[in-house]
Amino acid sequence: MLDAIVVGAGVSGLHAAWKLEKAGKEVLVLEARSRVGGRLLSVNINGSDDKLDIGATWIWPGEVRVDSLITELGLETFPQYVNGALLYDTHGGPQSVPTDSNGILSLRVKGGMTSITDSIAGRLKDGTIQLNSVVNEVRYEKDGEIKVILAGDKTFTAKNVLIAVPPALAVRHIKFSPELSENLIRIARVTPVWMGIIIKTVIVYETPFWRDAGFSGTVMSALGPLQEIHDMCGPDGKPAALFGFTAMQSPNQKAPTREEVIEQFVRLYGQPAENPIEVVIQDWSSEIYTSPQDVFRLQNYNLFGERIYEGTFLSGRLHFCSCETSGRNGHIEDALAASERAVKAVL
Ligand SMILES: Cc1cc2nc3c(=O)[nH]c(=O)nc-3n(C[C@H](O)[C@H](O)[C@H](O)COP(=O)(O)OP(=O)(O)OC[C@H]3O[C@@H](n4cnc5c(N)ncnc54)[C@H](O)[C@@H]3O)c2cc1C
Repeated sequence: MLDAIVVGAGVSGLHAAWKLEKAGKEVLVLEARSRVGGRLLSVNINGSDDKLDIGATWIWPGEVRVDSLITELGLETFPQYVNGALLYDTHGGPQSVPTDSNGILSLRVKGGMTSITDSIAGRLKDGTIQLNSVVNEVRYEKDGEIKVILAGDKTFTAKNVLIAVPPALAVRHIKFSPELSENLIRIARVTPVWMGIIIKTVIVYETPFWRDAGFSGTVMSALGPLQEIHDMCGPDGKPAALFGFTAMQSPNQKAPTREEVIEQFVRLYGQPAENPIEVVIQDWSSEIYTSPQDVFRLQNYNLFGERIYEGTFLSGRLHFCSCETSGRNGHIEDALAASERAVKAVL
């Protein structure tokens, strides 16, 4: 019998699986999508090998777990470009605010964020990850024997189960038997999904014309459709790209169109912004394996790292470990802290 089944091959689930395998445990990772990475998603741009992130972008100094993971995986980082003026996109037209640094000390990962999850996945034993495996049910039968049942009824049995899926999604889509405590279900149902209401748009150009004109690429916009914009070029300025966030407030809100996005960049930077090579619009609120349908109503971010998630369930055999279950920020660092906690409980 397996020592542990991990539900979800995002950074938390993969990290947990890797730690468990290193400790000599037999592990299976069941992932609903046809890819690993979850909210880490780097895509090839314009048919080239260059990858840009349409999920998580940054890591920050002081994130000790991410830092040591990056080192252990042999990956490299580079600083977020912040040199030059910041723009405020207002009704009166773009206002330029000269500054050498916009106060962001974040770093990016060379090759994109999925280098992290691809790299961990590549270190797991052959067959540890099973893609296209949607977990529908977790059934505790007797001590040390939990059945994990997929859509289509395929069943696996393990001594422990790690739920590396946002809690709000897990309690809506996975049937737990016997039922989890009322308190846990009540809290899990309303715990937000970090960035689950965000549309991230990446726009790629031939050259980083904003840099040449003395702009950092950072924009705060009252007009939208992108409300916050940053430079997203590769380490040596290639590919030349910017990205921005749009926070969706309801399922009825329209996602920005390619034309609206280009119009905003032309308003900000004029004619050089007219002809992007590519515009990628990634709506995380409509990703069924990230956000539940009513994700817009989940607003109480104080529930991140709620103490109840430190507990174990189903007689100590079930552990929650997505980024929402540890720390306060929903960052990769929190996902790693959560997986460490779950692994410790299993071991
Ligand atoms: C647009 C955006 C920008 C972000 N920016 C940053 C940033 O700059 N820095 C930062 O630190 N963090 C950022 N984040 C947050 C970061 O991505 C998360 O902290 C991290 O990826 C969460 O990892 P996780 O493993 O906890 O969850 P996830 O990555 O969500 O993984 C959950 C996995 O479970 C799978 N799954 C779901 N349901 C099932 C099921 N029923 N059966 C089987 N599998 C299932 C999913 O497919 C997914 O692979 C951002 C997120 C987004 C979306």
